[in-house]
Amino acid sequence: MWRGLMATCKKCGKVSQEIAGILSLCAQCIRKADSASLAELGQIHARSRESFGLPGRPPAGPNGVACGLCRNQCTIPVGGHGYCGVRKNINGHLKGGMAEGAVVSWYYDPLPTNCVADWVCAAGSDAGYPKWSYQPGPEKGYVNLAVFYEACSFDCLFCQNWHYRQRSITGRTHTAVELAESVTPSTSCICFFGGDPTCQLPHALAASRLARKQNSQRILRICWETNGSMNPKLLDKMMSLSLESGGCVKFDLKARDANIHYALCGVSNTRTLENFAAAARRVPERPQPPPLVASTLLVPGYVDAQEANAIASFIAELDPNIPYALLGFHGDFLMTDLPPTSWKHAESCLEAAKAAGLKRVRLGNVHILR
Ligand code: SF4
Ligand code: SF4
Ligand code: SF4
Ligand SMILES: [Zn+2]
Repeated sequence: MWRGLMATCKKCGKVSQEIAGILSLCAQCIRKADSASLAELGQIHARSRESFGLPGRPPAGPNGVACGLCRNQCTIPVGGHGYCGVRKNINGHLKGGMAEGAVVSWYYDPLPTNCVADWVCAAGSDAGYPKWSYQPGPEKGYVNLAVFYEACSFDCLFCQNWHYRQRSITGRTHTAVELAESVTPSTSCICFFGGDPTCQLPHALAASRLARKQNSQRILRICWETNGSMNPKLLDKMMSLSLESGGCVKFDLKARDANIHYALCGVSNTRTLENFAAAARRVPERPQPPPLVASTLLVPGYVDAQEANAIASFIAELDPNIPYALLGFHGDFLMTDLPPTSWKHAESCLEAAKAAGLKRVRLGNVHILR
């Protein structure tokens, strides 16, 4: 609940409701942060993670086993966990997130649903009917199988699903077979999200292939909602599944500026941007319904019109037709002191994204705009 609190930037002295107390730095000072300030930001993330028993930083010791599932490239010592918590080294063998068991839960979400791509996808729009959708327009009477992976490769201080952190290490596991068998006759899409599917992609990919095989005579779209930090080879497999099924990969591009991204998410955005560019190169294989969609959460004070313009310019240079949703923010996790996104902020970002050359931009979560 936002209480209208002020915080002070410890570098420049600026006082604002749009400075998060946990960072105590304004966006401009973060953009020009020196290595000492960046190290302090790293400490903030490390402390927040340790309260959940998660490694403060990706383990990198000389004697560990390397995990290449995501950009963190952890080297996990015997008995230890990766940054995500879900991958562990048991007697020299890496376990977790594979087809035989992932920390995951799922539920059925009636369509049309509040999906970040519903304005352009086969379930929510006219795109893709009849090849990829059972009906023109909203696919009423069908459900999305929403699959929540309880771990993540990022550490966003505003994470709206942060409770998964309590289960990443100790949560109940399910096999890929169990998940695939949960596809009902009325399931027309599967959305892998979380947390993030990245750290348990072998499980998600196995479940997807099995579910598609068991429903090979009918429409079953495969979609992903992700921070985009996975191994590029796994991204390629995700894209292939989405392209061949009528689904999409939804990238959450949190910030363009490297320092803003690091301050908010605790991890670099380099891999995410490289992966997004690689995914964009595959759009011509099936332009409609769009196989690649981007979104950005408008965090007051940090993801401002300058950021929205920079992200949109990056997308537009790849393909100006990639759909881009700007999402309203409400305070959560360690950033409950920030206000909800204002209409003024959202509209300035919308204009900035259009000015960058993108042809399909929209505001989402408008019901929470202030
Ligand atoms: S999935 Fe990523 S965060 Fe998890 S152990 Fe592997 S490299 Fe580390
Ligand atoms: S999961 Fe895919 S097909 Fe289903 S509503 Fe979301 S974007 Fe549309
Ligand atoms: S990427 Fe998503 S799930 Fe992961 S920490 Fe950030 S907001 Fe939370
Ligand atoms: Zn400042």
